[in-house]
Amino acid sequence: MSQQATGGTAVREKGDEVDIQPKQPTAKGPADLIAGDVWFDVTAKGEQPSRIRVNAVRFSPGARTAWHSHAVGQTLHVTEGRGLVQARGGEIVAIRPGDTIHAAPGEWHWHGAALDHFMTHIAMWEAPAEGPESDWGAHVTDAEYLGQDQE
Ligand code: MN
Repeated sequence: MSQQATGGTAVREKGDEVDIQPKQPTAKGPADLIAGDVWFDVTAKGEQPSRIRVNAVRFSPGARTAWHSHAVGQTLHVTEGRGLVQARGGEIVAIRPGDTIHAAPGEWHWHGAALDHFMTHIAMWEAPAEGPESDWGAHVTDAEYLGQDQE
């Protein structure tokens, strides 16, 4: 129930309404998982029973994740710039603002910026009921990133 404060501003009692969440500091992507400069902002990290994970991720030109997979899959939605994504064994795919990409559970892949553009995407995934959210492997080599290993 809302109350009227003396200044005429509505005061909400906790639990009455949705709350604006505390802002987490922007964090640098760790060098063992990310090549180049990548920064992420946590948009949502659900508390049990919710297992939702949502991050806004900003890649500088040429920056990319290492090879990895997500236990319950992942959806990426590009909001800015130009990027690249590749599933293991597949072609490198150029991605643009408005594109939505899904990686199936356990599918090894990487994502990153194009060589000459920043790229921002919203990454959405869920933690599994048990076990790690993601498995991480080797860095994407320059040859892999440039598609020079696909001859
Ligand atoms: Mn991923």
